[in-house]
Amino acid sequence: MINRRSLLQAAGLGTVLAPWTTHGAEATTQLILLGTQGGPNFNLQRGETASLLVINGEPYLIDCGYGTLRALLQSGVSYLDVGHIFLTHLHDDHNADLPALLSHQWTQGRVLPTTVYGPYGTDTLVQAANLYNQANTDIRLEDEARTVQPRDLFSGTVIPAQASPVLVLQNSGVKVSAVENTHYPEAAKQHMQHRALSYRFDAADRSVVFSGDTAYSDNLVALARGADVLVSEAMEIDAFRQRFEQMVASGNYADNPEGIWTHIVGTHTSTADAGRMASAAGVKTLVLNHLIPGGLGALPDEAYIRSAREHFAGEIIVGRDQLVL
Ligand SMILES: [Zn+2]
Ligand SMILES: [Zn+2]
Repeated sequence: MINRRSLLQAAGLGTVLAPWTTHGAEATTQLILLGTQGGPNFNLQRGETASLLVINGEPYLIDCGYGTLRALLQSGVSYLDVGHIFLTHLHDDHNADLPALLSHQWTQGRVLPTTVYGPYGTDTLVQAANLYNQANTDIRLEDEARTVQPRDLFSGTVIPAQASPVLVLQNSGVKVSAVENTHYPEAAKQHMQHRALSYRFDAADRSVVFSGDTAYSDNLVALARGADVLVSEAMEIDAFRQRFEQMVASGNYADNPEGIWTHIVGTHTSTADAGRMASAAGVKTLVLNHLIPGGLGALPDEAYIRSAREHFAGEIIVGRDQLVL
């Protein structure tokens, strides 16, 4: 049977279709993985986290780690067209390219609003991005007689972090909802207002859920119930432990390596837990993303799939940059 997947495979996965390409009566929702590295460990194989949903021609960007702008160019989707950005949380590997994206939108002449949705702190983050770009703004307003102010275009909308789904956005093409997940330990949350979110996108033809960073999360399982696709972060712990010890030996994490290891293991999703959550939610397809070790190790796809497969019988796809699904 000829379907999108087999066409992609025939073309060699990772060959990028024009983002608005459809095959006959197939889906109008495309998922494009822009950056699939887990953690602030960007490298030449994988960019920091970013994903794109193109729904009826409208791009929705989920996270905006370092390399997102370049990855958008590579995908064929114009960064000028991105008017909705959803941040799962405010770790730098999920938002490092935000000031670059917004400033280049403005400099290149976007005159429509761009809204950034995210947890506590997202409004301040966008204000800070505008401030970071203030000199560029002032120079061009004066020198080029620009008439639009970035602060009038770019805003942050704070989404409450709750156990049950919060409606983030609804228009003719998509309904977006969010829940709080378990990326931040309870002990840390007692001393800060920062929270981490998972998102669900329901379009006419497909429903896609993004875990963001999280440990096993019942809220996420409930959010993802019956979805077509769960894009879940995934860490292959044994392989990463080996890599981690090499990194410590070469001077990384010198202040408290075991403390950092405990943090990493306790606040992220193992490949086994990705499979467990996909199974508990009853999704059709599990896409492993935010891969750890990812580009830090040369693991075959099977190494990520193995533990997930023990818990989940559906389709499992290992993400890589520019993969179109
Ligand atoms: Zn991350
Ligand atoms: Zn994180």
